[in-house]
Amino acid sequence: MLETTRMNLRHQPYTLELKHAFGIATSTRTTTPAMLVEVEYEGVVGYGEAAMPPYLGESQQTAAAFFDRATATLREASDPFQLEELLPALDALAPGNTAAKAAIDIALHDWIGKKLGAPWHRIWGLNPAKTPVTSYTIGIDTADMVRQKTREADIYKIIKVKLGRGAESDRMMIETIRAVTDKPITVDANQGWKNREEAVRLIEWLAARNVVFIEQPMPKEQIDDTAWLRSRSALPLIADENVQRLADVKKCHGAFDGVNIKLMKCTGLREAHQMILLARALDLKVMLGCMTETSCAISAAAQLSPLVDWADLDGAVLIKNDCFRGATIVDGKITLPDRPGIGVEKI
Ligand code: MG
Repeated sequence: MLETTRMNLRHQPYTLELKHAFGIATSTRTTTPAMLVEVEYEGVVGYGEAAMPPYLGESQQTAAAFFDRATATLREASDPFQLEELLPALDALAPGNTAAKAAIDIALHDWIGKKLGAPWHRIWGLNPAKTPVTSYTIGIDTADMVRQKTREADIYKIIKVKLGRGAESDRMMIETIRAVTDKPITVDANQGWKNREEAVRLIEWLAARNVVFIEQPMPKEQIDDTAWLRSRSALPLIADENVQRLADVKKCHGAFDGVNIKLMKCTGLREAHQMILLARALDLKVMLGCMTETSCAISAAAQLSPLVDWADLDGAVLIKNDCFRGATIVDGKITLPDRPGIGVEKI
């Protein structure tokens, strides 16, 4: 018999199938392993998701092992509303596992919002009309594929381009896109630029081509070089690999102009919200990013999006097998559904 006086955590593996092979500085892939979770309590079900690109170190196996440990913690908890106690207890179960932790955080937020009958943007006091436009990401590819993807990005107001496989490939990617459109581009080098003098010159070249900012130009270990680069850079620098969790935001101050916050890196909505507030207090710009994810995790992040400068929340449109309906992209702009919790329903 199903016990209804305790929180129940269910999880199942789900493999996200990408529409296009996705190339970044260090790898190319066609699928992303994910886990879908449900937290059930008092007849209400909250949905959550962990999306785990392999290079970040989590897998469906590590997530399942974490969920098994988390089950006991959730069943001992008396009240899913007490996130301030519950989430640190879950975080303390094991180091890392940030995507698995995010899945539970998202499901608990969804549960709370449904129980209160309100979407999270309303609980946080945010204006749903102030969601940003989202960029559409083009991975490293052949010129023909880059041209095709640029045309497919028609409804988007900003294009995000992956660079970092060498100066020749970097220039080819930008010139190919510029032959199709002159809309603003953001660049993600994924730590691919190792030489700071070359990086200064490349950024100058990019600044003359309507590029808005550079995400993670140099390896995360080269934060001193990044600070050097920032003092000479023609464009703002945004930290991604250099910022995972709340404590990292302060470390980016001085080396970067802003931070890219992702639920899968920072254990979920509660810490992401704290990171945004801290970044603002430090006068850092804020970008909200994602992995390839279903509309479950994307819609959760979208609830925070009225707070940020830039959003890169295209994860769900890059996959073929989205199993949730939630936030949508209308004319390039994130649009929040009028549904409680994180705003999703299962398809
Ligand atoms: Mg990035």
